[in-house]
Parts: sequence; C-alpha cells; structure tokens
Amino acid sequence: MDCIFCKIAKGEIPSSKIYEDDNYLAFLDINPVARGHILVIPKVHTADIFDTPDSTLSGLTAAAKKVAKAVVCATAAEGVNFSINNGAASGQAVFHIHVHLIPRKAADNLPPWPHGSYAQGEAARIAESIREKLE
Ligand code: 5GP
Ligand code: ZN
Repeated sequence: MDCIFCKIAKGEIPSSKIYEDDNYLAFLDINPVARGHILVIPKVHTADIFDTPDSTLSGLTAAAKKVAKAVVCATAAEGVNFSINNGAASGQAVFHIHVHLIPRKAADNLPPWPHGSYAQGEAARIAESIREKLE
C-alpha cells in the first residue's frame, strides 16, 4: 500500500518527530496552519475514524492530549485545535487516520467556521433523523 504516513511511521520518509511510543507517532505537519502544527497517528494503518477500532482511537486521543499540552507550552499558545478530517468532503487528503493539533492564539486571525441557523422545526427533524440512525 502506498501510504505516506505508513512510510513516515516506518522511518522510510523523514519527519520532524515530536513523540513516539510502540503504537503512536507525532510529527510536525509539513505545511503548518500555525507554527507547531502537529499530526498524531497510530502506527497501524487505518483510513479514517469509521475504520479505526475504538481502542486505537482511545490511545490516539491520549497520545494527542499528551503532545497537545507540550505544544501549547512550547509555543505559548492560548488554545489548541484538536481535529480529525474524516472523509474527502471534510478536507481529508491523507487516508491514514491522523489528529491535527494546531496551536492557537486569540489574535492569530485564522478564520472561524461560519455558523448558520435552523428554520422553525428543522432542528427537531434533523435531530430525529440522526437519532434513528444510531447503532
Ligand atoms: P488532511 O487534509 O488529510 O486532514 O491532512 C493531511 C496533512 O498532512 C496536511 O496538513 C499536510 O500538510 C500533511 N502532510 C502531507 N504530506 C506530508 C508529509 O509528507 N509530511 C508531513 N510531515 N506532513 C504531510
Ligand atoms: Zn498508512
């Protein structure tokens, strides 16, 4: 399989490593949204959240939390975005699951997500349609 993050995990492609244990690896994003932008991955390949066992997601979250504290401290950030793009439409470009850690400052001028609103009754309908699909 031709996966760039598998190659990084195996050391076949260089990366600026931040943290590594038996199961997880954190390294600097090559095109950072902010200085110190980090990607955290499980070493075993899965494509996205739906493809990844809950136990792996749990460990990934714990590893990302540990690294997030360090990057906030090291960059004097005031917050950190902790996010996963899941699926191409959400912005996922590399199909090996990864958590983005993006250190933030209140005045960093990164654009916020646009927010909308619901028409009368729409929120109730959408909430019900989602609840019906819960497994
Ligand atoms: P996605 O859009 O899939 O959520 O994020 C993929 C991220 O991987 C992007 O932010 C991109 O800059 C980063 N990236 C892609 N290729 C490489 C690489 O070869 N090395 C590193 N360190 N980051 C990469
Ligand atoms: Zn992979």
